[in-house]
Amino acid sequence: DCAKVCPTGAIEFKGKPRIFRPLCTACGNCSDACPAGALRLVGKEYTVEELMKEIEKDVLYFDNSGGGVTFSGGEPLFQADFLLEVLKECKNRYIHKALDTAGFASREVLASAMSYVDLFLYDLKLIDEKQHIKYTGVSNTLIKENLRFLVDSGRAQDVILRFPVIPGITDTPDNVDDMAEFISNLRGLREINLLPFHDVSEKYHRLDREYLMTVRKSPPQEKLLEIKEKFESIGLRVKI
Ligand code: SF4
Repeated sequence: DCAKVCPTGAIEFKGKPRIFRPLCTACGNCSDACPAGALRLVGKEYTVEELMKEIEKDVLYFDNSGGGVTFSGGEPLFQADFLLEVLKECKNRYIHKALDTAGFASREVLASAMSYVDLFLYDLKLIDEKQHIKYTGVSNTLIKENLRFLVDSGRAQDVILRFPVIPGITDTPDNVDDMAEFISNLRGLREINLLPFHDVSEKYHRLDREYLMTVRKSPPQEKLLEIKEKFESIGLRVKI
C-alpha cells in the first residue's frame, strides 16, 4: 500500500521495501497507509505559536522542577530566525532557556541569542584546527572566538562546556592538554560535561545513510576518569 500512495515513487519493493531518500518529500502518506505501523514519520514542522502551545503545557512542571526548555538539534543557531522568535516568547513567559550549540554561527546570530538564552551548553571537540577540519569539515576558529566572546561579555557563568569523548579522536593526550590550556585562558568557566561516545551506526543504516565514523567502541571508564582529573586540575566541575 505504501508504494501506491507515495506521490513521488520513492518506495520500491524488490525482495524487500526500500525508500529512495532523495525522492522522499516527507509527506507522510506511507506511514499513514502502513497497516503494521512499520513506517513512522519522525519530526514535524511547527509555527512559533504551535510550538509555544506545546511548551506551555509543561510550564507547571518547569516551575516545580526548576527546569525549562533546551533548544538542541542539529544546530539550533542554523534556524536563527525561528529560534529567536521562540526564545523571545519563552522569555516573555519567564521560561528558562538553554541552548545546546556547537558555536558555529555568526557573531551577529550569537549576540542576538545571548539576549534571551539563560544557559549555553557549548560543545568543544578539538582544539587543533587541522584536526577539527579533518573530523568536522570546518575550522574551529569561529567556535573558539564565539566562546571567548561569551566569556568576555560576562556570560562565563552561564556556560557549561560539553566535550564529546571519542576514542582516538578527541580523547588523545594532546587534545585534552590543549583543551585544558584553552579553557584555563577563559576566566570564569565553571563546568564541563564529558559525553562518552556511543555508536549510532544502526541509526544511519536504518536511514540508508553512510556512517563515516570508524570508531565503534565507547571510551573506557578509566579514560573518562583520567580526563575528568585533568579538567578538575584546572578548577572545573566535571560531570560524566
Ligand atoms: S513520506 Fe516519502 S516515501 Fe513516504 S509516501 Fe511521502 S514521499 Fe513517499
